[in-house]
Amino acid sequence: MKNSNNSGNDLKSFIDEELIWSEMEKATNPAPAQVRDILAKAKERKGLTPFEAAVLLKNTDKDLDNEIFETAMEVKKGIYGNRLVLFAPLYISNECVNQCAYCGFNAKNTDLERRTLSPEEIHKEVEVLEKIGHKRLLLVYGEHPKYNAEWIAQTVRDVYSVTSDKSGEIRRVNINCAPLDVKGFKALHDVGIGTYQCFQESYHQETYKKVHIAGKKTDYLWRLYAMHRAQEAGIDDVGMGALFGLFDPIFEVMGLLYHAKQLEKDCGVGPHTISFPRLEPAQGSDLAYNPPYLSSNHNFKKIVAVLRLAVPYTGLILTTRENAEFRKELLEVGVSQISAGSRTYPGAYSDPQYDRPDVQQFCVGDSRSLDEVIRSLISGDQNYVPSWCTACYRLGRTGEHFMELAKTGFIQKFCLPNGLLTFKEYLEDYASEETKKIGEELIRKELESYADPDRRNLLTDRVTRMEAGERDLY
Ligand code: SAM
Ligand code: SF4
Repeated sequence: MKNSNNSGNDLKSFIDEELIWSEMEKATNPAPAQVRDILAKAKERKGLTPFEAAVLLKNTDKDLDNEIFETAMEVKKGIYGNRLVLFAPLYISNECVNQCAYCGFNAKNTDLERRTLSPEEIHKEVEVLEKIGHKRLLLVYGEHPKYNAEWIAQTVRDVYSVTSDKSGEIRRVNINCAPLDVKGFKALHDVGIGTYQCFQESYHQETYKKVHIAGKKTDYLWRLYAMHRAQEAGIDDVGMGALFGLFDPIFEVMGLLYHAKQLEKDCGVGPHTISFPRLEPAQGSDLAYNPPYLSSNHNFKKIVAVLRLAVPYTGLILTTRENAEFRKELLEVGVSQISAGSRTYPGAYSDPQYDRPDVQQFCVGDSRSLDEVIRSLISGDQNYVPSWCTACYRLGRTGEHFMELAKTGFIQKFCLPNGLLTFKEYLEDYASEETKKIGEELIRKELESYADPDRRNLLTDRVTRMEAGERDLY
């Protein structure tokens, strides 16, 4: 691999725009037989090429679209079962020197109250999150010279150091911050971050240039190779993403898939997660109020379904940008991780005057509390098992190692029972009475469903030990 620190010199983009356009053209008006052949391949869970993904996305036949959704549901269920990972974002700072035309934190937004949390403020926020029951956090930062790698690493240490009563501790800290150099990423690796997340926003260079007006983020290649540098530094769980609404969504999906392929080729492992935020209104951004490429809900759902088929073992992350009803649909066709009870400005969780639009990054579409989200996930026709499991990461099963295990049915065999135990922990320590009642019933049914008596007994024993006060069993 070329030196990925050396952006602009010996690096060049591996996103071949001409190829993407020509493949998109070739994928137009696909014959039903072609769509069905691709779906048959997808059922084998071996993934799809970017071209095959484009064919599915270019299909306009509603019945075939339904077949795409059904196949995605089948693949998702086969790999992930009914387990769903939950996390919360924690905004550490909103000071930013970049001018991203779509973001409320952009340097030109003078109406925004700027804030960087002190160690004491981080402590307060984490305590609130732990007392709600969160175990996995995504730390979010603006880009500013004062947030260097060492400073960011210290905020991670601060978060891990907070332990509250009951089972209150954060067990996995993921990071969404501006790209660093390899040395900087090593500093993050050394403090034990989980996933490093960074979204390319748009893979289309001209659009990228247009929406990134000033600041370090204007450097497309520096960002494009961020995942390579993170991997080089030893962070083998990396999360990529595109901001949908800036450019042609099919181009962006293909960009994501070509990026994933390149990473796999150069580093031996593709992305651990993919995110697909849709542009939301944000104070101080005209662009965010008028997205140039707005996807309908139907088309957006198709993007999620096609990503599930194209990269079956990669986690797909959905945030509270989308509303509750639509989130439910997206879960069915592919999403495997969601944020819940999110607040999107620094200090929001401990803010007695919460809901101040002057400090939010963007508008939240699902503002329910964690307990409400969980109750809906386990009620009615939904029987997801909410999971805060961090066992793999803590046992060193990351990157390539995790991907290999995922392909052998490991998620169903190990992640699901471990997830169930974290759910039991939540019910014991944090759930409302109503949620606890429904949740206990779900756990009883899940235990009953284990055909192998040894596994069922092992799990039942751990559930009983938790009722007796033990915690963090996996
Ligand atoms: N400053 C870092 C960066 O830009 O990579 C990380 C934090 S930034 C707040 C995280 C992500 O928020 C961005 O990568 C972008 O995709 C997303 N975002 C920004 N403005 C948004 C908006 N108006 N609606 C939805 N998502 C938005
Ligand atoms: Fe700053 Fe990130 Fe927002 Fe851009 S997206 S303005 S870099 S916080």
